[in-house]
Amino acid sequence: MQRFTCDCGNVLFFGSTICLKCGIEVGYDPQRGNMIQVVPVHGVKRCANGTKYNVCNWVLPTTVKETLCQACRKNRTIPDLSTERNLMLWGRMEMAKRRLLYTLLRLGIRLPSKMENPQIGLAFDIISTLSNPTVTTGHLNGVITVNLEEADDTYRQINRQQLGENSRTLLGHFRHESAHYLWQRCLSDLAWDDPLRLAFRERFGDEWLDYASALSAHYQKGNPTGWEQNYITGYAASHPWEDWAETWAHYLQIVDGVETCESLGIQVQFIALPLVMLPGEAGTLPSMLPQDGVADGEFLAWLQRWMCLSTVLNEISHSLGEQPLYPFVISVPVAQKLRLAHHFATVWAGK
Ligand SMILES: [Zn+2]
Ligand SMILES: [Zn+2]
Ligand SMILES: [Zn+2]
Repeated sequence: MQRFTCDCGNVLFFGSTICLKCGIEVGYDPQRGNMIQVVPVHGVKRCANGTKYNVCNWVLPTTVKETLCQACRKNRTIPDLSTERNLMLWGRMEMAKRRLLYTLLRLGIRLPSKMENPQIGLAFDIISTLSNPTVTTGHLNGVITVNLEEADDTYRQINRQQLGENSRTLLGHFRHESAHYLWQRCLSDLAWDDPLRLAFRERFGDEWLDYASALSAHYQKGNPTGWEQNYITGYAASHPWEDWAETWAHYLQIVDGVETCESLGIQVQFIALPLVMLPGEAGTLPSMLPQDGVADGEFLAWLQRWMCLSTVLNEISHSLGEQPLYPFVISVPVAQKLRLAHHFATVWAGK
């Protein structure tokens, strides 16, 4: 996340709705890619989900007839808002969703809503399993469904324990499902021997592997021993699509994490380089893709900065008596997958 400043000079955050110094209403303008004062001279109005429910701080031009911002317009289904609890949980969901959209837009990935573009557009169903017990978090044909109950910390922690995950967040869910969406939108139509498809297969494995049986086998047997050597999470070992989704989610996490640290002036040096950062295989793309030593070097330097930063973040968590903030290990195969995710992001920028 970038560092934002109000016209008055005060610092603003991505979720700010008012500047605590000048008292002027503020919001995030996705067109400008910046936080902005909601004043007539800027020609923006607050999203109706902000003015009505206080769950959104994005703005849209005053000249358009729509009342919802581009993030809220992607909602196909929202929860029953007759209870205070649902309203609170929905607010958390919307925050995580906007953070995902922010990062994708930052990467230059165009995000039409499904209503605007039924073919490649994106929509969200935010539904509680309390009102609809069959709901599961997932992606299908451009619709990302999330279970509202996941916004309840207790519910999410119980799931996390039961599934043996070392991290489970709303933002992580949105990032993960965005990977399935982008796979379908950007990769599934390519010929089977397209270099991008071949590169995917080389890094993540054969995507034709039967998905349903792979997942049921995973839930029966649990994480394979030694998964840390090849995967970013145990769940990633269940199927190449899930490996891709976990890798892409992790890539977005690093994009956001590095940007946040560096925009706030945190810089880290002089930490011994982990093995993965040594020159060689870790930064290079599969051979069927155009090789670019400069881009490889930039990617490796970027990943290295994150590994240094995350080491510091973990030490800070320990100083506060908390669990590590970043409980992940990036092995060489994982770095190679992240490199491919970075390449995909570059290819998809502007499309
Ligand atoms: Zn201000
Ligand atoms: Zn909105
Ligand atoms: Zn998935």
